[in-house]
Amino acid sequence: YFGKIQDKDDEYYSEFPIVVCGLDSVEARRWINAMLFRISEMPQQQVFMIDGGTEGFKGQARVITFKKSACYECSLGMTTAPVTFPMCTIANTPRLPEHCIEWASVLHWPKEFPNKKLDGDDPEHIKWLVEQASARAKEFNITGVTYTLTQGVVKNIIPAIASTNAIVAAACANEAFKLATGSALAMENYMQYTGDVGVHTFTFGLGKIDNCAVCSVEGVVVEAKAESTLGELVERLKKMEFLQIKQTPSVSIGDRTLYMRAPPVLESQTRPNLDARLDSFMSSCEYLSVIDSVELKVTVKFADAEV
Ligand SMILES: [Zn+2]
Repeated sequence: YFGKIQDKDDEYYSEFPIVVCGLDSVEARRWINAMLFRISEMPQQQVFMIDGGTEGFKGQARVITFKKSACYECSLGMTTAPVTFPMCTIANTPRLPEHCIEWASVLHWPKEFPNKKLDGDDPEHIKWLVEQASARAKEFNITGVTYTLTQGVVKNIIPAIASTNAIVAAACANEAFKLATGSALAMENYMQYTGDVGVHTFTFGLGKIDNCAVCSVEGVVVEAKAESTLGELVERLKKMEFLQIKQTPSVSIGDRTLYMRAPPVLESQTRPNLDARLDSFMSSCEYLSVIDSVELKVTVKFADAEV
């Protein structure tokens, strides 16, 4: 199979007891993590997720045993905002305007001007990059290359180092082998590798967090007034940085859809619900499914309710 991970459903992923990720973004890892957690909740399903990542001379590999140790979402707080992009993505499979800008500045500029150093503060240089990046973006049907964005991303690049990738990939492969054969104990459960200042590895057990929006029982607990509206709640959730909600999410409770952000027909049909009082469709301590790129569990406690 070759395609987007999101194009496959629960049934497809439930065939695999061990999933080794080769992903290049936080978003993709969050998505597969939520999917595999959901599968691990089905009867008779034990799923291990093995994930690795590198950044220059640094890397990490981890084994996620759902419901026992931290899931990817539990450790989101450890990830810093992604400001760099893997070289392989830049060279071969751009999806974002940033990828095209990196391509223009890192790969194309040195070819065109081998003896001229790129200066992020020189408007002529940036202008040239914008032109080149825009052309490449057009080729891949990507929009959004602007002068400001170009200047913003030009200065921060961490190269993909093949040998670091090899170390992390080998660690992931070892864990997959151990889990599949039972020949040795799997790592418990997060290995950090640092190769830029000497060489260090450190492995530690990362525990679940109580209010993980994916794997905890209650999810994120939010206190709200019973008479406040769904729209107000959604706006508050969007401001909670650790949830990393990028645009107004869809919301449902049990089997009932409260708000659908797409397609437009359903959006306009469900939009009036954003003005509905919380206590008109739920009672205190019930949980909502909040769906942005990942489905998040949010338990709402009414501020004035006795629990
Ligand atoms: Zn979790």
